[in-house]
Amino acid sequence: MTRRFAELRAPQVDEVVSERSILIQPFGAVEQHGPHLPFNTDLVVADAISRAVITEFGEELDLFMLEPFAYTKSNEHAWSPGSIWMNPTTLLAMIDDLARSVAPLPARKIVFINGHGGNSSLLSVALREVRLHHGLMTFLMHPSVPPDQGGPSTEEEHGMGIHGGLGETSMMLHLRPELVDMQAAVRNVPAALVDNEKVKFGGSVPFGWLSNDFGPDGHIGDPTGATAERGARQFAAAVANLGASLREVAAFEYPMEGGA
Ligand SMILES: [Zn+2]
Repeated sequence: MTRRFAELRAPQVDEVVSERSILIQPFGAVEQHGPHLPFNTDLVVADAISRAVITEFGEELDLFMLEPFAYTKSNEHAWSPGSIWMNPTTLLAMIDDLARSVAPLPARKIVFINGHGGNSSLLSVALREVRLHHGLMTFLMHPSVPPDQGGPSTEEEHGMGIHGGLGETSMMLHLRPELVDMQAAVRNVPAALVDNEKVKFGGSVPFGWLSNDFGPDGHIGDPTGATAERGARQFAAAVANLGASLREVAAFEYPMEGGA
């Protein structure tokens, strides 16, 4: 049986979707990723990871993958022609509409799998909005947690491999190498932030930024050492980690459920 929700026929919904089912909603992005990666990088990653997750854990955990959101909140790249960005309020409204549409299904849990760091804080807000207004149990996961949100970083990137850096470039060399131009991959790590203790990516003082605040190339990180092998390891680790996280989601219940 398919685990992609959109491939079901309407009468199948009653047969296969149950209270136990967990909906997976991937979020990609179509935005500039520097001179070496394609616009659809975050979409490729979120889609591939989500498909791998339903293949590996779909039966065990009763997962159904919804179709990915391709265009999301990429306004930090508004300066770049071809970056297609939704306003934060637009994306929030789209998520509200999505939740209203799936709330009548028997499934009670929805998991956002987010491939674009620029969506993270908005998706955290949406978790509570959807919980409050549609009664669903809501969860947010990342294929890999961005370094500015507590995820790992190599020493060379100083926690700043957040956009088109080593991790993301390796992932794309694994998934879609024909779309990557390693000749164009150059280091762009903002030296001015390296010595800051607080005002830095992931520091105790967040700051508003646009991706061209750090140079004309638009990426932030050091993709030069990226390899497909590294990407394959990252991909496998991400799928395993998401599987373990989804297992906890499957067992998760509120001590008192008043909303649903
Ligand atoms: Zn990205």
